[in-house]
Amino acid sequence: MKKIKYSVVVAAYNEEESLPLFFSKVIPLMETLGETFEIIVVNDGSGDKTEEILAARCAEDKRVKGINFSRNFGQQAALLAGLEECCGEAVIVMDADLQDPPEVAIEMIEKYKEGYDIVHGRRKKRPGESVFKKVTARAYYRFIHRISNPKVPENVGDFKLYSRRAVNAILSLPERNRLIRAQAAWVGFRQTFVEFDRPARAVGETKYTLKKMVKLASDGIISNSYYPLYLSLKAGIFLGVISAAAFVTFIILALCRVYLPLAAWLFPTVTVLFAIHLTIKGLTDIYTARIYDEVKGRPAYVIKDKLNCEKDHD
Ligand code: UDP
Ligand code: MG
Repeated sequence: MKKIKYSVVVAAYNEEESLPLFFSKVIPLMETLGETFEIIVVNDGSGDKTEEILAARCAEDKRVKGINFSRNFGQQAALLAGLEECCGEAVIVMDADLQDPPEVAIEMIEKYKEGYDIVHGRRKKRPGESVFKKVTARAYYRFIHRISNPKVPENVGDFKLYSRRAVNAILSLPERNRLIRAQAAWVGFRQTFVEFDRPARAVGETKYTLKKMVKLASDGIISNSYYPLYLSLKAGIFLGVISAAAFVTFIILALCRVYLPLAAWLFPTVTVLFAIHLTIKGLTDIYTARIYDEVKGRPAYVIKDKLNCEKDHD
């Protein structure tokens, strides 16, 4: 079988309007590269004619491959299925609605040829999107960037190019609820960016309901940061310091014969009780974080390459 140079992986949910346009733009563009390629479309349980359109295209062009889900599992699950199926030396992940401009994929390929393993598409402006989407996306990316470790880059979605070894590293993470764009940051290797303005959808409406957006956003935070689990301990220590300061002040005042009413002592007494409670809870949360880390089952490291090593672990 001929080796495939480039794979394009696309998740599609109710994209009957977008898909024909997508093929008509992306296939000629990939042909200009003069290399072998495949386009893997994962139909995420669409209820419209996506499945028929995909089947017809697969029948007439063997470079197009289709996977149909039994129901709607979500874009991240669809992208995972595509990444598992693809066999290109480099893999480009993009949306079906042409909001990820296909010409930018060519720039990504240039970066790949320069030796980068992951090329992120960074959104400069989002002229085609609602104010609500712009504001929430900006705030979310800023927040996740701040609390994640390693840092999830800001204003970067799933539009990316991955080298084969980067794809294999992502596939070695066994998590069920994943935000692939954040895992890309975790796996390491040489990473870079290409910037682009994100246009409006070519056709149709967004397939991301508010509920799906919230799930995606919370998956991203929960699986890439222990920040929420450390809040209790931080609040406990903060309250502890406040109550200690209040006790010390009250005692100094008492020594100076300034007597506060008995009710005033209620403040540090209550806060110290809360501080003790929050601190103990925070300590158990640290164990929860550790358990979660173990349950996630991520490998302890990802190897880039080996030099003069004889032992083969594969
Ligand atoms: N998508 C999917 N499953 C879903 C929702 C969306 O596969 O449950 C796909 C959709 O077909 C598109 C991509 O994910 O290719 C991004 O979705 P959309 O364009 O609706 O999101 P937005 O750009 O509005 O954030
Ligand atoms: Mg879109």
